[in-house]
Amino acid sequence: MNKEEAVNKGANLSGLLSLLKPSATLEITSKAKSMAASGEDVVILAAGEPDFDTPQSVKQAAVDAINRGETKYTPAVGTLSLRKAISEKLKKDNGVEYSPGEIIVSNGAKHSIYNALQALCNPGDEVVIIHPYWLSYPEMVTLAGATPVVVKTSASSGFKASAEDIKNAITGKTKALILNSPSNPSGAVYEKQDLKAISDICLDNGVYVISDEIYEKIMFDGIEHFSIASLSPEARDMTVLVNGVSKSYSMTGWRIGYLAADTRITSLISGFQSQTTSNPCSISQAAAEFALTSPELEAELEKNRAEYKKRRDEMMNLLAGNEKIQPFKPLGAFYLFCDISATGMSSVEFAGKLLRDEKVAVIPGGPFGEDSFVRMSFATSLEKINEGVDRISRWLEKV
Ligand code: PMP
Ligand code: GLU
Repeated sequence: MNKEEAVNKGANLSGLLSLLKPSATLEITSKAKSMAASGEDVVILAAGEPDFDTPQSVKQAAVDAINRGETKYTPAVGTLSLRKAISEKLKKDNGVEYSPGEIIVSNGAKHSIYNALQALCNPGDEVVIIHPYWLSYPEMVTLAGATPVVVKTSASSGFKASAEDIKNAITGKTKALILNSPSNPSGAVYEKQDLKAISDICLDNGVYVISDEIYEKIMFDGIEHFSIASLSPEARDMTVLVNGVSKSYSMTGWRIGYLAADTRITSLISGFQSQTTSNPCSISQAAAEFALTSPELEAELEKNRAEYKKRRDEMMNLLAGNEKIQPFKPLGAFYLFCDISATGMSSVEFAGKLLRDEKVAVIPGGPFGEDSFVRMSFATSLEKINEGVDRISRWLEKV
């Protein structure tokens, strides 16, 4: 091989990864954070993470774990004591029983979803996702060799897909449905009757449900979270339940998520994780176990939830009456998904110009499959919310 041929051969890197879109949420958030760090007066309404600090007692649990010497490899699937704590949590909060052998702890719920798709899918399979979707779902489906099939919803249907919509998207190749309630980015919530109808369709067609319940603890207006896995033993066997501590306990940087599923699935993921990442951080696991088993943290979650609700209401009020931007009222999570079609701009153009002109960071809806919307996070102080909306309103008068 001559030198030129050798260089060309070396340049031929992974086609699959070359097509992958980097996460816009992480990219824009980190750009805005670095602008703020270099002294720019940025209002960040982009972040998909709680602004509250991790509770002090959780931090102390991590320090204690270090001092006890819990600084070595743990079982690849997570410590038995953490998996027991998760098993108890799922029974207590969600009314569904999984043994510790049916639970796998990973580097965040994102990693759990990736593992689930790798375990469920074969090349040529289809996975149904509901628009507007968390932007990592289609990319992770593609990485598993499967094809994402998008079910379109609208603000007028509450950004929820009906069982009928899902039925129409199912083909002989459909392996799974990804369900996210409360939803990122819309804040839509599927209630028990919605889930019952969807579960019936999935069971009739042998379709698994990956149920992403990461925003379970951030819900408003008295609506209760309900897990599709708890509907029936059959539903449980066809569900991969995903959750984690990032959003509930303000622990995004600690990277602990988990999934619970029948052993047919967890035994595959156990081998996969042992050959790819090994265990998630031992110290973070100890901290997550403390968080999940400490009843005194319940009061803190309640306080945070009340604060998020206050911020949601404030942001909705501040935007009310502005004809150029129409927020969709979220029942959970901490995002306001806003229709910007009256501005005539695409979501990327809107977010790009807003950051450039007014130094307000929001996430374009395009990567979530909805280009006439932008996503604004209210996981920030009331002061920042007021300042951000002020700047947006002023700017919208000019554009
Ligand atoms: N699912 C949804 C819908 C999310 O918004 C996020 C964002 N962090 C995750 C999963 C992943 O969370 P993590 O990996 O931090 O546990
Ligand atoms: N999930 C959050 C968001 O949507 C955090 C960033 C990410 O993991 O994509 O903004």
